Amino acid sequence: MDQTIEKRIFELPKHVADKIAAGEVVDRPLSIVKELVENSIDAGATSITIEIRNGGKTYIRVTDNGSGIQKEDAELAFKRHATSKIKTDTDLDHIESLGFRGEALASISAVSKVELITKTAGDKSGIRLRLEGGEMIEKEDTGCPEGTTFIIEELFFNTPARLKFMKQDATESTLIIDFISKMTLAYPQIKFRLVNNGNILFSTNGKGDIYSNILTIYSREIGDKLIHLSEDHGQMALEAFISAPSNSRTNRKSQIFFVNGRYISSKLMENAVTDAYQEKLFEGRYPVSFLFLRVSPESLDVNIHPNKREVRFDDEKAVREFIAASIRKSLKTKDAIPEIKENN
Ligand code: ADP
Ligand code: MG
Repeated sequence: MDQTIEKRIFELPKHVADKIAAGEVVDRPLSIVKELVENSIDAGATSITIEIRNGGKTYIRVTDNGSGIQKEDAELAFKRHATSKIKTDTDLDHIESLGFRGEALASISAVSKVELITKTAGDKSGIRLRLEGGEMIEKEDTGCPEGTTFIIEELFFNTPARLKFMKQDATESTLIIDFISKMTLAYPQIKFRLVNNGNILFSTNGKGDIYSNILTIYSREIGDKLIHLSEDHGQMALEAFISAPSNSRTNRKSQIFFVNGRYISSKLMENAVTDAYQEKLFEGRYPVSFLFLRVSPESLDVNIHPNKREVRFDDEKAVREFIAASIRKSLKTKDAIPEIKENN
């Protein structure tokens, strides 16, 4: 019997295709927080407040004082592949913003209930939109301050299979708290405020001091013993806080890697750290390493996965050696341990 005869091909309806695509960008509350905060940063915000309830499952609010979205563009922002950040395929070769795919808002709105309130400096009043499952249900002018607020409620209300896969509130909120903590280090010039179930967990002062944020958010026990290094070779620059070998950890949780302001996971950077410490560490011990690497945007491919957690360097060997050499050098310098300032 020939069963293939039954296997006709149909094009999926748009709302089904949208739900499938959404799954690549939004798999849990953390991914929403990440996309919204990255949008705020791209909009030039100097102050970002993140509020979550129930691990972000029922409620996420991100408010910024960035550029805002022009009234006539507000609806378009929710269309797939609609972006203000790139225009041509050659723009993909030198991406300087965190976003560029024009997918996040389309994906988020496909699987939740969204409210957007936004105003630019040029517009006299702002605009407020509400969407449910990607459908616009309300749009009106509103008075509001310059900047943008997104409220995301009832994540996965229309995709029960995904709803089931979310973990307990505490697990989801821990991931979010962890992510925002890291972002405060990469963006010390931005004031972050994180509110969980009505309680302010932390706020940073936006004064540009990474070390003060490390002390605010991570323990003084980690902070006290860190070595600060700063190497600038033009094409590549590294700012880092690392621990002396004697202050290593039993897991990689205190290894945090940013490239061009983007939080990434990177075997290459892990290996570079290992190269640098080599025989100074016992097997199974990992130094604290907060690395903030800058490379020229042309030498970096960030368009590898929809979640943008992975990147590819043009010259992997050069990057690995630069990082390892910078760390090795600073491990030799005793006076690299930063002064603890008052007012933390
Ligand atoms: P991308 O960030 O890849 O461009 P998104 O779907 O995340 O795609 O956002 C679509 C567009 O909406 C952005 O290009 C930007 O113009 C606008 N936008 C989203 N969030 C904000 C914000 N917080 N402030 C200003 N503009 C925003
Ligand atoms: Mg975005």
